[in-house]
Amino acid sequence: MLTIKNLKVAVEGMEILKGINLDIKPGEVHAIMGPNGSGKSTLGNVLAGKENYEVLEGEVSFLGEDLLELAAEERAKKGLFLSFQYPVEIPGVPMVNFLKTSLNEHRKYKGLEPLTAGEFLKLMREKKEMLHLDSQLTNRSVNEGFSGGEKKKNEIFQMALLEPKLAILDETDSGLDIDALKIVAEGVNALKSPERSTIVITHYQRLLDYIVPDFVHVLYKGRIVKSAGKELALELEEKGYDWIKKELA
Ligand code: ADP
Ligand code: MG
Ligand code: MG
Repeated sequence: MLTIKNLKVAVEGMEILKGINLDIKPGEVHAIMGPNGSGKSTLGNVLAGKENYEVLEGEVSFLGEDLLELAAEERAKKGLFLSFQYPVEIPGVPMVNFLKTSLNEHRKYKGLEPLTAGEFLKLMREKKEMLHLDSQLTNRSVNEGFSGGEKKKNEIFQMALLEPKLAILDETDSGLDIDALKIVAEGVNALKSPERSTIVITHYQRLLDYIVPDFVHVLYKGRIVKSAGKELALELEEKGYDWIKKELA
C-alpha cells in the first residue's frame, strides 16, 4: 500500500522529518503517536501533497507508484484521504453539493458514471445512518459554524463516501466527547477491509481503545524511534514519553 524510505522533509528551510521509514500493507491499521511538534502532521501533509513541504531526500511509493511525483489531487483520486487536524470552513457551499461534486470527480477518474441526485441521496442516507450523523448537518455550508466534534464527524462522513484505499486521520479524536469518539471509531472500523489501510495520528491512547491498531509507532523529533504492537499505546498512556527520550539519550 505505502512504503516510505528515508524521507526527509523541510518546512520553511528547517528539516522537520529526518529520515522516516514505514511500510504499510493492505488491511493494516498503523497508529502514529508522539509528543507535540514531532512532525506527525508534517508527515500526513507531505503524504497528501500539501504545499510548502520540501522533500529533501527519500522515496514514497503508494500502490506501486511514486507518490511524490503526483499532484495532491491525483493522490486523492488514487485513493489517499487525509483528514485535517483543523478542517476548513467554506461559507456558501452546502455540504451536500461539496460531497456530491467530490464523489463524482473521484468516480470520473475511475471511469465510472456520475451518481444521479437520487442515487447520491440514497448513498448519503446509508452513510449518515452508519455514522449517526444529524441529518441537518449536510444542508449547512461546509463546516461553517460546526462544533469541533461535528467537523470531525463530518470528515469521517466524507471518508465513508469516498471509501479511500489509504486514510490518514490526523488527530481526529481531538475535540470529541466520548460518544462522538465511538461513532468516529465505528465509522473507521466499518470501512476496514483487507484492501484498505489506515494511519491514525493521535496524542492519546483513548481513540485506540476503539480503533485497534496493528502497529504503533512513536515519532519523535522527526524520526520513528519505536515501533511495536498495540500494547505500546497502553505503555505510553501509562508512562508518557520520558522513558523513550531517556532510552534515546
Ligand atoms: P505534530 O503534528 O507532531 O505536533 P507538526 O508536524 O505539526 O508536529 O510540526 C513539527 C514541527 O514543524 C514543529 O516544530 C512545527 O513548529 C514545525 N512546522 C510545522 N509546520 C510549519 C510551518 N508551516 N512553518 C514553520 N514551521 C512549521
Ligand atoms: Mg500537534
Ligand atoms: Mg499535529
